[in-house]
Amino acid sequence: MTTSKSHVVILGGNFAGLASAQKIREYAGDSVDITLIDRKDYLLFVPNVPTDVMENRDPAKRQRLQLRPALASDDIAFVQGIVKRVDIDRRSVDFLPFERPGAECEVLHYDYLVIALGAHLAYDRIPGFAEHGHTVSDLFHGERLRQYLHEGGYQGGPIVIGSAHFHQGNGAEGLAPYPGGSIPYAHAACEGPIMELTTALASWLTTSRKGKPDKITVFTPEEELIAADAGENNVRHFLKLIDGMGIHYRKNMPDIARLTAEGVEFQGGETIEAELKMILPDWVAHECLRDLPICDSMGFIKTNLLMRNPEHPEIFAAGDCAAVTMPKIGGIGHQEAEIVGRQIALDMGRMDAEEANQPLQPVTFCIGDMGESKAFYVRANTWFGGQDEVLKMGRIPYRLKMRYRDLFFLTNGKIPGFGLELAQFTAEKVF
Ligand SMILES: Cc1cc2nc3c(=O)[nH]c(=O)nc-3n(C[C@H](O)[C@H](O)[C@H](O)COP(=O)(O)OP(=O)(O)OC[C@H]3O[C@@H](n4cnc5c(N)ncnc54)[C@H](O)[C@@H]3O)c2cc1C
Repeated sequence: MTTSKSHVVILGGNFAGLASAQKIREYAGDSVDITLIDRKDYLLFVPNVPTDVMENRDPAKRQRLQLRPALASDDIAFVQGIVKRVDIDRRSVDFLPFERPGAECEVLHYDYLVIALGAHLAYDRIPGFAEHGHTVSDLFHGERLRQYLHEGGYQGGPIVIGSAHFHQGNGAEGLAPYPGGSIPYAHAACEGPIMELTTALASWLTTSRKGKPDKITVFTPEEELIAADAGENNVRHFLKLIDGMGIHYRKNMPDIARLTAEGVEFQGGETIEAELKMILPDWVAHECLRDLPICDSMGFIKTNLLMRNPEHPEIFAAGDCAAVTMPKIGGIGHQEAEIVGRQIALDMGRMDAEEANQPLQPVTFCIGDMGESKAFYVRANTWFGGQDEVLKMGRIPYRLKMRYRDLFFLTNGKIPGFGLELAQFTAEKVF
């Protein structure tokens, strides 16, 4: 950078990174130069991969938003590179250009750093996963599962769906996003997709005449309630629904020891028999961040509720890599990106303190496919100490899920506030 403007470097260009870059540009205007680094040059729209898989579409064709034009339209520089190291004292980032093997390591200096690198989804820590496991968290595994389900791989045997244990660090201790509330500890990183896959697979079994939903067992490492962040009443309602469908629910499960051809084997020796094993893994901090002094006990970035690291206020984190982001869902990353944009605008003198200093009040906001053009809609903050819990099910949430994705692509990720409010209004008031 050769200008005298402050240089904001953003690490990661998926939901939290792209939204942070756009919000900084929106609120801080031309007072900053912005560079975003990601290993890939597209945003992967993870939430709609499961629906593509269940509806027999290759997710690679529909769930990639090209980053270069999206960023260029806001005068944000893009580097396709792998982040190798952050030097906090020198305020620099080492990265490896990623277009061709053999490139030399480069250094980028920053005045502000926004870390939005997500997490390492540790399938590699589940013995037997590559041979026997399935998942929907990326294009490769999504397409593999699509072929298995729709092209004759699945033989009609039992199905198990659940999460490996998540090891949450201590980085959000003491934070109170709502009066008297907290960022609680969870034993699974992100269980919304588990609930979604349970209902979507139940519907698929029936419509494709492969059997009844009672083939399915869903398990959770949580003592009592799966996806408790969705609100206790909402989850109890959901559990009643799946119980009525004959789906088996297992709670308080030990961590996964290995996957085998026969099923999922848990630590302690129990095996749940399964042909199809749908697993979400542990969310682990990236190696290039893990040992930095800005990290918590498990390598997630410590921030306050204004998304700044307390010891290094020039460093922000947003999305899954932030310790405060629990559960690891994109909706919370988006709320955090808004805060990052306002904080940098404050520092640049482009926003006053009252407008900028609005701390994170996380809300679990999730629309999950249930098959047959139906979905569930959840909006809840009770897990964090708030008062709201809403659950709706039916065709309108499904249409909202599809329209949200379309609007996201149409606006390059800049869904206007009124779009979200309209979605909330439609889901909660119109039916
Ligand atoms: C199946 C599934 C369904 C989901 N559905 C929902 C949903 O309906 N709603 C919801 O809110 N959330 C959902 N989530 C969670 C959501 O996908 C994540 O919370 C969200 O993607 C996190 O965004 P992020 O930007 O923080 O991290 P990520 O999406 O993980 O992005 C991190 C970015 O950093 C880049 N990166 C990583 N390491 C490096 C490196 N060393 N160098 C350069 N670049 C790097 C990656 O390429 C990536 O682009 C779902 C998750 C799964 C698995």
